[in-house]
Amino acid sequence: MQNLIHDDPQLAELALAEEQRLQNTINLIAAENHSPQSILDITGSAFNTKTIEGYPGKRFHAGCVNVDSVETLAIKRAKHLFGAEYVNVQPHSGSSANLAVYFSVLEIGDTVLAMSLPHGGHLSHGHKASITSKCFNFSHYEVNPQTGLIDYEQVRKTAHSLRPKMIVAGASSYPRLIDYKLMAEIAKEVSAYFMVDMAHIAGLVAAGVIPSPVAHSDFTTFTCYKTMMGGRGGVILARKEFASRINSAVFPGCQGTTAANLLAAKALIFKLAMDDLFVAVQKKTLANARNMSRAFLTRGYTVISGGTDNHQVIIDLTNKKIPGKTAEQALEAVGIIINRNVVPADAGKPGQVSGIRLGSGAISARGMGSDEVDKLVEWMDCIMARPHDTALADRVGRDVLALCHDFPVNA
Ligand SMILES: *Cc1c(COP(=O)(O)O)cnc(C)c1O
Repeated sequence: MQNLIHDDPQLAELALAEEQRLQNTINLIAAENHSPQSILDITGSAFNTKTIEGYPGKRFHAGCVNVDSVETLAIKRAKHLFGAEYVNVQPHSGSSANLAVYFSVLEIGDTVLAMSLPHGGHLSHGHKASITSKCFNFSHYEVNPQTGLIDYEQVRKTAHSLRPKMIVAGASSYPRLIDYKLMAEIAKEVSAYFMVDMAHIAGLVAAGVIPSPVAHSDFTTFTCYKTMMGGRGGVILARKEFASRINSAVFPGCQGTTAANLLAAKALIFKLAMDDLFVAVQKKTLANARNMSRAFLTRGYTVISGGTDNHQVIIDLTNKKIPGKTAEQALEAVGIIINRNVVPADAGKPGQVSGIRLGSGAISARGMGSDEVDKLVEWMDCIMARPHDTALADRVGRDVLALCHDFPVNA
C-alpha cells in the first residue's frame, strides 16, 4: 500500500475502506466470493505489463516467452480439471465468453433459445437490453410457476416449433440442478448447438460436488469470480471441432489484447481447485445453502423451488410484505450484504422486484458452518420483520460485526 498512499492518498483510503468493508460485513451475494490472497497477488503482478494478441506461439508482439507458458499452463490445467477437449482462457468476462461462442457458429439473425431473465437467465442470453438480442433472434423458456423448475416440456415444444440454431442452458438465478442430458437431447432432436453457461456454479462443478455439463454440451462458458473463487475473467470450454472457430471469435472477433495477469490468475485457480481445501469449501458451500434454505422455510418464507441444490437460496418475499429493495437496504444497514432479485412472480411487471437472492460461497470461504448460518437466518428474519426498528438494527449490527471478527477473510 505504501506506493498507493504516496501516489493517491484519497484512493488508498478507499481501498483500505473496501478491505475493511469486506472484513466487517457478511457477504451473501451469490455472484461474489473471497479469492485466496495468492489470486490477488498474481492479479497485481508483473504480468500486467505485457500486451498480447493471438495465441501461444502465434503472437503479434515479441517478449511473450513467459506469458505463452502461463496461457498454455492455464489451458492444460482447465482441460484436466473440467475434462474439456478445448479451452480458451482469453475472454475478459463471462458475457464476452458468451458473445464469442455465439459469433463462432451463428450468423446474425439466427434463432437461439435460452432461459428468460425474470425466470433466472442472464442479460447475455438475449435480454432486450443486451447486444446479444440485437444480433440474434432470441426466444426464452421459463420455469414452471408451481415448482420453480425449468419446464423441460415447454423447452422441447418451443425447440420443435422454432428450430433454433442454438439452445442455451444455465442461469444467474436458479437454485436447482439442470438436466443437461435432457437439454442436450432436445438440442440434438432439432439439430441445434448446445451451450451451457455455468458462470455461477463453475466452482461446484470443478470440485465435482455437482454434476458437470461439459460432456453433454458443445460449448461451456463461465466466469472465474463466482463460486470459482479465481478473480475476474471468462473461460470457454468446447469440443475440439470448434477450436479454430472459437479462437478467432475471441481474438480478433470480439476482443483485442487479453489481460495476461488474469490468465495467470486463471492458471492459479485451476491448480488450487484440484486441492482438498477447495473441494472442502465447495462442499461447505452446498451444505450451508441447504441449511439456509431449510431455516428460511421453517420461518415461513417462500423459497423458490422449495430448496436448493447449489449455492443459491432465492426467496419470494411477497407473503412477508417487504419489497426486495427494502430488505436489501435494511440488511445492508446491519452489515449483511445481499441483493434484491426478480422472481418468476415479477415477470411482466417491469420495475417490480419481490425477491432476494442469497449465496453461500463467501461465508463458506471464510469457514462459516451451520451454527453461523442459523444465526444469520435468525438475524435476517428479525430485520426483515422490522426493517425500520433502529434499536434492533443496532443490536443485530453488533452481533454481525462480532461474527465477522471470528471469521476473518483470508485468515
Ligand atoms: C454472472 C453471469 C455472467 C456474466 O459474467 P460477467 O463476467 O459478469 O460478464 C454470465 N452468465 C451468467 C449465467 C451469469 O450468472
